[in-house]
Amino acid sequence: MSTALFDLSGRTALITGSTRGIGFALAQGLSAAGARVIVNSRQQAAVDQAVAKLKEQGFDVRGAAFDVADQDSVSAAFDAFDQQGLEIDILVNNAGIQHRAPMLELELKDWQRVIDTNLTAAFLVGKETARRMVARGRGGKIINIGSLTSEAARATVAPYTVAKAGIKLLSRAMAAEWARHDIQANSIGPGYILTDMNQALVDNPQFDAWVKSSNPSQRWGKPEELVGAAIFLASAASNYVNGQIIYVDGGWLSVL
Ligand code: NDP
Repeated sequence: MSTALFDLSGRTALITGSTRGIGFALAQGLSAAGARVIVNSRQQAAVDQAVAKLKEQGFDVRGAAFDVADQDSVSAAFDAFDQQGLEIDILVNNAGIQHRAPMLELELKDWQRVIDTNLTAAFLVGKETARRMVARGRGGKIINIGSLTSEAARATVAPYTVAKAGIKLLSRAMAAEWARHDIQANSIGPGYILTDMNQALVDNPQFDAWVKSSNPSQRWGKPEELVGAAIFLASAASNYVNGQIIYVDGGWLSVL
Protein backbone atom coordinates (compact mmCIF):
# COMPACT_ATOMS: atom_id res chain seq x y z
CA MET A 1 0.00 0.00 0.00
CA SER A 2 1.32 3.41 -0.94
CA THR A 3 1.41 6.16 1.68
CA ALA A 4 1.15 8.59 -1.29
CA LEU A 5 -2.60 7.90 -1.21
CA PHE A 6 -2.77 9.71 2.13
CA ASP A 7 -0.19 12.41 1.37
CA LEU A 8 -1.53 15.97 1.71
CA SER A 9 1.59 17.78 0.50
CA GLY A 10 0.81 20.84 -1.57
CA ARG A 11 -2.77 21.08 -0.22
CA THR A 12 -4.16 23.91 1.87
CA ALA A 13 -6.68 23.01 4.58
CA LEU A 14 -8.98 25.41 6.43
CA ILE A 15 -10.09 23.90 9.74
CA THR A 16 -12.73 25.98 11.50
CA GLY A 17 -12.71 26.09 15.30
CA SER A 18 -9.16 24.77 15.47
CA THR A 19 -7.59 26.64 18.38
CA ARG A 20 -8.27 23.77 20.77
CA GLY A 21 -9.90 20.36 21.15
CA ILE A 22 -10.72 18.27 18.08
CA GLY A 23 -10.00 21.11 15.63
CA PHE A 24 -6.49 21.64 17.01
CA ALA A 25 -5.78 17.89 16.87
CA LEU A 26 -6.96 17.86 13.24
CA ALA A 27 -4.76 20.89 12.46
CA GLN A 28 -1.80 19.00 13.88
CA GLY A 29 -2.73 15.77 12.08
CA LEU A 30 -3.35 17.28 8.65
CA SER A 31 -0.14 19.34 9.02
CA ALA A 32 1.81 16.16 9.81
CA ALA A 33 0.31 14.59 6.66
CA GLY A 34 1.81 17.47 4.65
CA ALA A 35 -0.95 20.07 4.37
CA ARG A 36 -0.59 23.79 4.91
CA VAL A 37 -3.23 24.53 7.54
CA ILE A 38 -5.29 27.64 8.27
CA VAL A 39 -6.30 27.79 11.94
CA ASN A 40 -9.54 29.56 12.87
CA SER A 41 -11.68 30.64 15.81
CA ARG A 42 -13.44 33.85 16.83
CA GLN A 43 -10.54 35.01 19.02
CA GLN A 44 -7.41 36.46 17.44
CA ALA A 45 -5.28 35.77 20.53
CA ALA A 46 -6.25 32.09 20.60
CA VAL A 47 -5.57 31.82 16.85
CA ASP A 48 -2.13 33.41 17.28
CA GLN A 49 -1.33 31.03 20.12
CA ALA A 50 -2.39 27.92 18.16
CA VAL A 51 -0.45 29.08 15.08
CA ALA A 52 2.67 29.62 17.23
CA LYS A 53 2.35 26.11 18.75
CA LEU A 54 2.06 24.49 15.32
CA LYS A 55 4.91 26.57 13.88
CA GLU A 56 7.11 25.38 16.76
CA GLN A 57 6.49 21.87 15.45
CA GLY A 58 7.80 22.97 12.05
CA PHE A 59 4.45 23.16 10.26
CA ASP A 60 3.35 25.63 7.56
CA VAL A 61 0.43 27.34 9.30
CA ARG A 62 -1.67 30.48 8.86
CA GLY A 63 -4.31 31.99 11.10
CA ALA A 64 -7.69 33.55 10.32
CA ALA A 65 -9.92 34.81 13.14
CA PHE A 66 -13.55 35.02 12.02
CA ASP A 67 -17.01 34.00 13.19
CA VAL A 68 -18.21 31.10 11.04
CA ALA A 69 -21.83 31.86 11.92
CA ASP A 70 -21.70 35.43 10.61
CA GLN A 71 -22.07 35.79 6.84
CA ASP A 72 -20.21 39.13 6.61
CA SER A 73 -17.35 37.79 8.71
CA VAL A 74 -17.11 34.66 6.50
CA SER A 75 -17.19 36.73 3.27
CA ALA A 76 -14.47 39.07 4.56
CA ALA A 77 -12.28 36.10 5.52
CA PHE A 78 -12.59 34.57 2.04
CA ASP A 79 -11.85 37.94 0.40
CA ALA A 80 -8.67 38.05 2.50
CA PHE A 81 -7.75 34.47 1.46
CA ASP A 82 -8.17 35.53 -2.20
CA GLN A 83 -5.93 38.55 -1.67
CA GLN A 84 -3.29 36.38 0.04
CA GLY A 85 -3.46 33.79 -2.73
CA LEU A 86 -4.66 31.08 -0.31
CA GLU A 87 -6.60 28.45 -2.27
CA ILE A 88 -8.43 26.01 -0.02
CA ASP A 89 -8.28 22.40 -1.18
CA ILE A 90 -9.60 20.88 2.06
CA LEU A 91 -12.27 22.37 4.32
CA VAL A 92 -13.06 20.92 7.73
CA ASN A 93 -16.26 22.43 9.13
CA ASN A 94 -15.45 21.71 12.77
CA ALA A 95 -16.42 24.82 14.78
CA GLY A 96 -19.23 24.00 17.15
CA ILE A 97 -20.90 24.92 20.42
CA GLN A 98 -23.14 23.14 22.88
CA HIS A 99 -26.01 24.48 24.99
CA ARG A 100 -27.66 22.13 27.45
CA ALA A 101 -31.26 22.78 28.51
CA PRO A 102 -34.50 20.78 28.57
CA MET A 103 -36.62 21.78 25.56
CA LEU A 104 -39.40 23.11 27.82
CA GLU A 105 -36.92 25.68 29.15
CA LEU A 106 -35.03 26.31 25.92
CA GLU A 107 -35.13 29.87 24.57
CA LEU A 108 -35.35 30.65 20.86
CA LYS A 109 -32.12 32.67 20.93
CA ASP A 110 -30.19 29.65 22.26
CA TRP A 111 -31.82 27.29 19.73
CA GLN A 112 -30.86 29.74 16.97
CA ARG A 113 -27.27 30.22 18.18
CA VAL A 114 -26.61 26.47 18.25
CA ILE A 115 -28.20 25.87 14.83
CA ASP A 116 -26.31 28.86 13.35
CA THR A 117 -22.92 27.75 14.64
CA ASN A 118 -23.21 23.98 14.16
CA LEU A 119 -25.18 23.81 10.90
CA THR A 120 -25.72 27.10 9.04
CA ALA A 121 -22.02 27.95 9.36
CA ALA A 122 -21.07 24.74 7.53
CA PHE A 123 -23.31 25.86 4.66
CA LEU A 124 -21.86 29.40 4.66
CA VAL A 125 -18.21 28.36 4.80
CA GLY A 126 -18.86 25.37 2.53
CA LYS A 127 -20.47 27.56 -0.12
CA GLU A 128 -17.60 30.10 -0.17
CA THR A 129 -15.09 27.25 -0.36
CA ALA A 130 -16.90 25.19 -3.02
CA ARG A 131 -17.56 28.23 -5.21
CA ARG A 132 -13.80 28.71 -5.50
CA MET A 133 -13.12 24.96 -5.92
CA VAL A 134 -15.61 24.83 -8.81
CA ALA A 135 -14.06 27.92 -10.46
CA ARG A 136 -10.53 26.46 -10.13
CA GLY A 137 -11.65 23.15 -11.62
CA ARG A 138 -9.39 20.84 -9.63
CA GLY A 139 -11.90 19.48 -7.10
CA GLY A 140 -11.51 19.41 -3.34
CA LYS A 141 -12.52 17.85 -0.05
CA ILE A 142 -15.10 18.97 2.49
CA ILE A 143 -15.34 17.27 5.87
CA ASN A 144 -18.26 18.25 8.10
CA ILE A 145 -18.01 17.30 11.76
CA GLY A 146 -21.19 15.62 12.96
CA SER A 147 -21.74 13.70 16.18
CA LEU A 148 -23.41 10.64 17.67
CA THR A 149 -26.42 12.95 17.64
CA SER A 150 -26.31 12.82 13.82
CA GLU A 151 -27.88 9.41 14.49
CA ALA A 152 -29.46 9.34 17.95
CA ALA A 153 -31.14 11.89 20.19
CA ARG A 154 -30.17 12.64 23.79
CA ALA A 155 -32.16 14.68 26.30
CA THR A 156 -31.25 18.36 26.92
CA VAL A 157 -29.38 18.90 23.64
CA ALA A 158 -32.22 19.32 21.12
CA PRO A 159 -30.75 22.08 18.88
CA TYR A 160 -27.35 20.37 18.85
CA THR A 161 -29.03 17.08 17.88
CA VAL A 162 -30.99 18.72 15.08
CA ALA A 163 -27.91 20.60 13.82
CA LYS A 164 -25.71 17.49 13.79
CA ALA A 165 -28.42 15.41 12.09
CA GLY A 166 -28.53 18.23 9.53
CA ILE A 167 -24.74 18.03 9.08
CA LYS A 168 -25.03 14.40 7.98
CA LEU A 169 -27.52 15.32 5.24
CA LEU A 170 -25.73 18.57 4.38
CA SER A 171 -22.75 16.43 3.36
CA ARG A 172 -25.09 14.41 1.14
CA ALA A 173 -26.61 17.58 -0.35
CA MET A 174 -23.09 18.86 -1.08
CA ALA A 175 -22.17 15.51 -2.66
CA ALA A 176 -25.33 15.56 -4.77
CA GLU A 177 -24.54 19.00 -6.20
CA TRP A 178 -20.75 19.11 -6.24
CA ALA A 179 -19.54 15.55 -6.96
CA ARG A 180 -19.56 16.38 -10.69
CA HIS A 181 -16.89 18.99 -9.89
CA ASP A 182 -14.74 16.30 -8.22
CA ILE A 183 -15.57 17.62 -4.76
CA GLN A 184 -16.04 14.96 -2.07
CA ALA A 185 -18.13 16.01 0.95
CA ASN A 186 -18.33 13.62 3.89
CA SER A 187 -18.94 13.74 7.63
CA ILE A 188 -17.14 12.43 10.68
CA GLY A 189 -19.26 11.61 13.73
CA PRO A 190 -17.09 11.66 16.85
CA GLY A 191 -18.22 9.82 19.97
CA TYR A 192 -17.64 11.24 23.45
CA ILE A 193 -14.24 12.93 23.18
CA LEU A 194 -12.21 14.54 25.97
CA THR A 195 -12.28 18.27 25.14
CA ASP A 196 -13.25 21.55 26.81
CA MET A 197 -16.78 21.16 25.39
CA ASN A 198 -17.28 18.10 27.60
CA GLN A 199 -15.36 19.17 30.70
CA ALA A 200 -18.52 19.54 32.80
CA LEU A 201 -19.56 16.00 31.81
CA VAL A 202 -16.14 14.55 32.59
CA ASP A 203 -16.27 16.27 35.98
CA ASN A 204 -19.70 14.74 36.68
CA PRO A 205 -18.95 11.28 38.16
CA GLN A 206 -22.34 9.87 37.08
CA PHE A 207 -21.98 11.01 33.47
CA ASP A 208 -18.36 9.86 33.36
CA ALA A 209 -19.40 6.41 34.63
CA TRP A 210 -22.26 6.30 32.08
CA VAL A 211 -19.91 7.09 29.16
CA LYS A 212 -17.53 4.35 30.28
CA SER A 213 -20.25 1.75 30.87
CA SER A 214 -22.31 2.45 27.72
CA ASN A 215 -19.35 2.39 25.34
CA PRO A 216 -17.90 -1.02 24.41
CA SER A 217 -14.42 0.59 24.50
CA GLN A 218 -15.16 1.60 28.12
CA ARG A 219 -13.45 4.98 27.79
CA TRP A 220 -13.70 8.49 26.37
CA GLY A 221 -12.08 9.14 22.99
CA LYS A 222 -9.07 11.39 22.51
CA PRO A 223 -9.07 14.28 19.97
CA GLU A 224 -6.11 12.76 18.11
CA GLU A 225 -8.18 9.63 17.45
CA LEU A 226 -10.17 11.61 14.85
CA VAL A 227 -7.06 12.28 12.76
CA GLY A 228 -7.02 9.00 10.79
CA ALA A 229 -10.55 9.41 9.48
CA ALA A 230 -9.86 13.06 8.63
CA ILE A 231 -6.69 12.24 6.65
CA PHE A 232 -8.59 9.52 4.78
CA LEU A 233 -11.41 11.91 3.86
CA ALA A 234 -8.97 14.74 3.00
CA SER A 235 -6.77 12.62 0.75
CA ALA A 236 -6.81 10.83 -2.60
CA ALA A 237 -7.60 7.63 -0.67
CA SER A 238 -11.27 8.74 -0.59
CA ASN A 239 -11.65 10.08 -4.13
CA TYR A 240 -14.80 7.98 -4.81
CA VAL A 241 -16.25 8.24 -1.29
CA ASN A 242 -18.97 10.88 -1.19
CA GLY A 243 -21.84 11.81 1.12
CA GLN A 244 -20.83 9.31 3.81
CA ILE A 245 -20.48 9.64 7.57
CA ILE A 246 -17.75 7.81 9.47
CA TYR A 247 -18.44 7.39 13.16
CA VAL A 248 -15.35 7.41 15.35
CA ASP A 249 -17.05 6.44 18.58
CA GLY A 250 -15.29 3.43 20.08
CA GLY A 251 -18.24 1.29 18.97
CA TRP A 252 -20.94 3.21 20.89
CA LEU A 253 -23.52 3.20 18.07
CA SER A 254 -22.98 -0.54 17.52
CA VAL A 255 -24.52 -1.36 20.89
CA LEU A 256 -27.20 1.32 21.01
P1 NDP B 1 -14.21 22.89 21.79
O1 NDP B 1 -15.22 23.65 22.56
O2 NDP B 1 -13.05 22.28 22.50
O3 NDP B 1 -13.64 23.80 20.58
C1 NDP B 1 -14.52 24.47 19.74
C2 NDP B 1 -13.73 25.35 18.78
O4 NDP B 1 -14.67 26.04 17.92
C3 NDP B 1 -12.92 26.42 19.47
O5 NDP B 1 -11.73 26.65 18.74
C4 NDP B 1 -13.85 27.64 19.40
O6 NDP B 1 -13.11 28.84 19.54
C5 NDP B 1 -14.42 27.46 18.00
N1 NDP B 1 -15.66 28.17 17.72
C6 NDP B 1 -16.84 28.12 18.41
N2 NDP B 1 -17.74 28.93 17.84
C7 NDP B 1 -17.14 29.48 16.74
C8 NDP B 1 -17.56 30.41 15.75
N3 NDP B 1 -18.79 30.92 15.75
N4 NDP B 1 -16.66 30.76 14.78
C9 NDP B 1 -15.41 30.24 14.77
N5 NDP B 1 -14.97 29.38 15.69
C10 NDP B 1 -15.81 29.01 16.66
O7 NDP B 1 -15.03 21.78 20.98
P2 NDP B 1 -14.65 20.28 20.53
O8 NDP B 1 -13.26 20.22 20.07
O9 NDP B 1 -15.12 19.35 21.58
O10 NDP B 1 -15.64 20.11 19.30
C11 NDP B 1 -15.26 20.33 17.96
C12 NDP B 1 -16.36 19.83 17.03
O11 NDP B 1 -16.58 18.45 17.27
C13 NDP B 1 -17.70 20.52 17.26
O12 NDP B 1 -18.39 20.65 16.03
C14 NDP B 1 -18.43 19.54 18.14
O13 NDP B 1 -19.81 19.67 18.05
C15 NDP B 1 -17.94 18.23 17.56
N6 NDP B 1 -18.09 17.10 18.45
C16 NDP B 1 -17.44 17.06 19.66
C17 NDP B 1 -17.58 15.96 20.47
C18 NDP B 1 -16.88 15.83 21.77
O14 NDP B 1 -17.14 14.84 22.47
N7 NDP B 1 -16.03 16.75 22.17
C19 NDP B 1 -18.44 14.83 20.09
C20 NDP B 1 -19.07 14.99 18.80
C21 NDP B 1 -18.89 16.09 18.03
P3 NDP B 1 -13.77 30.23 20.10
O15 NDP B 1 -14.82 29.85 21.10
O16 NDP B 1 -12.60 30.91 20.69
O17 NDP B 1 -14.31 30.91 18.90
